[in-house]
Amino acid sequence: LTTFSDEARIALDTLAGRAAGLVSPSLRLGVTGLSRAGKTVFITAFIHNLIHGGRLPLFEAQKSGRLSRAYLEQQPDDAVPRFQYEDHIAALVESRIWPESTRAISELRLTVEFESASAWNRLLSRGRLSFDIVDYPGEWLLDLPLLGKSYDEFSAEALELATLPGRADLSADWRALTGETDPDGAADEMIARKLFEAFSAYLKACKADHRALSTLPPGRFLMPGDLEGSPALTFAPLRPGGKRRANSLHAMMERRFEAYKTHVIRPFFREHIARLDRQILLVDAMQAMNAGPEAVADLERSLTEILSCFRPGRGNLLTGLVARRIDRILIAATKADHIHHESHDRLQAIVRRLADRAIARADFSGASVEVQAMAAVRATREGTVRQGKETLPVIIGTPMAGETIAGDVFDGETETAVFPGDLPEKPGLLFQERSTPETPIRFVRFRPPKLERTAEGVTLSLPHIRLDRALQFLIGDHLA
Ligand code: GDP
Repeated sequence: LTTFSDEARIALDTLAGRAAGLVSPSLRLGVTGLSRAGKTVFITAFIHNLIHGGRLPLFEAQKSGRLSRAYLEQQPDDAVPRFQYEDHIAALVESRIWPESTRAISELRLTVEFESASAWNRLLSRGRLSFDIVDYPGEWLLDLPLLGKSYDEFSAEALELATLPGRADLSADWRALTGETDPDGAADEMIARKLFEAFSAYLKACKADHRALSTLPPGRFLMPGDLEGSPALTFAPLRPGGKRRANSLHAMMERRFEAYKTHVIRPFFREHIARLDRQILLVDAMQAMNAGPEAVADLERSLTEILSCFRPGRGNLLTGLVARRIDRILIAATKADHIHHESHDRLQAIVRRLADRAIARADFSGASVEVQAMAAVRATREGTVRQGKETLPVIIGTPMAGETIAGDVFDGETETAVFPGDLPEKPGLLFQERSTPETPIRFVRFRPPKLERTAEGVTLSLPHIRLDRALQFLIGDHLA
């Protein structure tokens, strides 16, 4: 799969660079998660808090005053788009709107100057380390299993998945079209396009808010990046069976499926995933819970597939490349500011339960895996309201324009106290149809917080929940 020369080239490039003093020591940090999990917000908050000396009591290097400076530098990979930090931070802080989400891969280099805690390290190192933060859609990772599948296997599985309860109605049009298409018919571009459009419309509908389904390969059909419209991205599953003539529609689709593997999946894993040292996987469990048990089960399925991409050792299609590298994986349940802190541990337990099977199945020996609840940007604060004799915990924030609570529609300007959604004590309950469907879990979306200014007019850094803990796990040891 990955040829020796690829691997050797990467290794030699790095060695040569180091020897020539061109490459300062760097750590490649992958940030992924399914779309809208919070990647853009996380990276923006990560950088802002380091550059502006945010409140990070659990981030040891910062707490002990050993961080002297953090700044952005030119990224080393000229062919990869830059993560547009400046635009994103302006949206968050100045306009108080959420930045534009990740649509493709992007990268940014952050360099940190620090004083090592140990005298020995101070002597040896220059106290400077660069972090290459690589932001990419988790959907693209879901493509890895396709490498081990033939076009017919892919087709059969896609058709089977499409008949599952949460999907059958959404896939009806595509299945009907596929049903009346003769795989042995002529290789007609217009038919291929119609099938592709119907298939990707179904995948996109699964992703919509009220369904929130996750396992939807091919990943580029949802997040095409810059390949939109190319033949490698214009195919769809067909009914298996048939005679398989050379110039048939089936032959054309099969060729494109193979092209997708060769020109899309393999280079992505080889050039990007194989070079990562650390990985954070963001998970929006709240959205899945809002949508119901099918979405939760689907999220679990996709987390299992995503995590298997980072699994070292035999059985991984990327054996050799990834095995050597990724030594820490953080699975972070995002948007914890939507719930009261009393529920943070429950959220963490839910995501741990979702990832458990993947962690158990994958042998992550050599890599440590941690799960935590987090809000990269905290849009709410906590309070209490009295109701009769009871004092109830609430969260206070500005619901986004158009959000509704009990029939009230919000204008995006009014601060409101909201009863946070109540998470079940036992994560297993999420996988069952709820016995009381009239009380679904419901989370309101809030606007980003208003930042306070000090008397000197300096804007304080973005508030967060446990972002410092995430930083400590992901990069803390390299600043020791
Ligand atoms: P991406 O697709 O993974 O890049 O997702 P984004 O980072 O763009 O996040 C998607 C949406 O989730 C944002 O527009 C916000 O509405 C919400 N969001 C993400 N992170 C947070 C967070 O830490 N707190 C809150 N309250 N909302 C968040």
